[in-house]
Amino acid sequence: MSDVKKVTIVGTGPAGLTAAIYAARAQLAPVVFAGLQHGGQLTTTTEIENFPGFEHGIDGTKLMMDMTAQAERFGTTIIYDTITKADLSARPFKLWASEKEFETETLIISTGAAAKTLGLPNESKLMGRGLSTCATCDGFFFKGKKVTVVGGGDTAMEDALYLANLASEVVIMHRRDEFKASPIMLSRAEKHPNIEFRVPHVVEDTIVNDGEVVGLKVRDTKTGELYDHETDALFMAIGHTPNSEVFKDFLETDDAGYVKVKNFTETNIKGVYAAGDISDPNFRQAITAAGMGCQAAIQAQRYIEEQHDA
Ligand code: FAD
Ligand code: NAP
Repeated sequence: MSDVKKVTIVGTGPAGLTAAIYAARAQLAPVVFAGLQHGGQLTTTTEIENFPGFEHGIDGTKLMMDMTAQAERFGTTIIYDTITKADLSARPFKLWASEKEFETETLIISTGAAAKTLGLPNESKLMGRGLSTCATCDGFFFKGKKVTVVGGGDTAMEDALYLANLASEVVIMHRRDEFKASPIMLSRAEKHPNIEFRVPHVVEDTIVNDGEVVGLKVRDTKTGELYDHETDALFMAIGHTPNSEVFKDFLETDDAGYVKVKNFTETNIKGVYAAGDISDPNFRQAITAAGMGCQAAIQAQRYIEEQHDA
């Protein structure tokens, strides 16, 4: 039984690494699987301006490498591999990476969620250069500029309302003339003097100058007309996909695949916790993910103590 880990964490984004820092300082010698994107989503961006403690912002990759070093300093082991299979039907829980089996008393799942994108030509090259999937993260960079939001759900309305206070003009483009957004959110956006709606319009391509987005090629699907739309940024608010696939046979999720949690980070299985974007369709911020990671580690620690006292 000596190979059974006390705490195993899946994911090295802000949730996973914060959980690791807390679990390591509690002498639980956590093992953390990094998956394909060590450091998580923040490694795909440059400046993080809203993570507390950095008056002048911090580079996303640097923040995550510093968190990694902090977790390792207290005795975290990071395994640069991906969990491809799990068996959570009995304790110890079993996980597999590269055909190797790992056993653990408690499990913290912090595998994040990926924003859906439109799949525009050169999309990945233009992320951070006028294309974004996170208005709260990148909106400030477009203060006083013209921005466009694509999507017809609550996120699109929320993003548009947030951006309307920063940008000189916000245009919402939606592919249908009906909206998934709740009536209250839709009505708030409709009433905002700085927000214009264009439906049913579909973004087909970007117009780029000097590596930066300066406009979009948009099709009005009612008339078939393709036109150029001048804008400094396109915020894609068309939903997220939580990375819960590996655990979905055991854990309760909502319809979109977010792991359901109660009492902070507890899942439907005792000893299994979920933290960060994987269980949070609402906020999806680095600081909230880190906070949930902290909660998960403390909850795992208390659970281990209870088991050992029993
Ligand atoms: P993630 O950061 O998504 O990390 C998930 C981790 O799980 C990764 O390490 C991945 O490799 C691993 N993983 C997934 N599946 C497996 C598996 N099967 N096995 C092993 N490992 C696995 N938030 C802010 O607060 N401020 C910002 O300025 C900001 N800017 C952003 C800019 C961009 C471009 C993006 C995409 C997001 C931004 N965010 C920002 C949001 C923020 O990045 C996320 O809310 C945060 O990273 C979520 O942290 P997490 O730990 O839950 O998951
Ligand atoms: P969502 O409700 O699934 O809406 C996604 C929107 O994007 C839909 O309008 C969809 O169009 C559109 N879309 C999807 N793929 C597209 C594509 N390839 N091209 C163009 N458009 C595309 O997702 P969400 O808005 O992120 O909301 C997720 C959940 O969080 C919802 O339950 C929502 O209520 C909740 N939420 C709540 C709040 C709040 O209450 N304040 C804020 C944010 C989110 P179609 O309509 O044509 O399918």
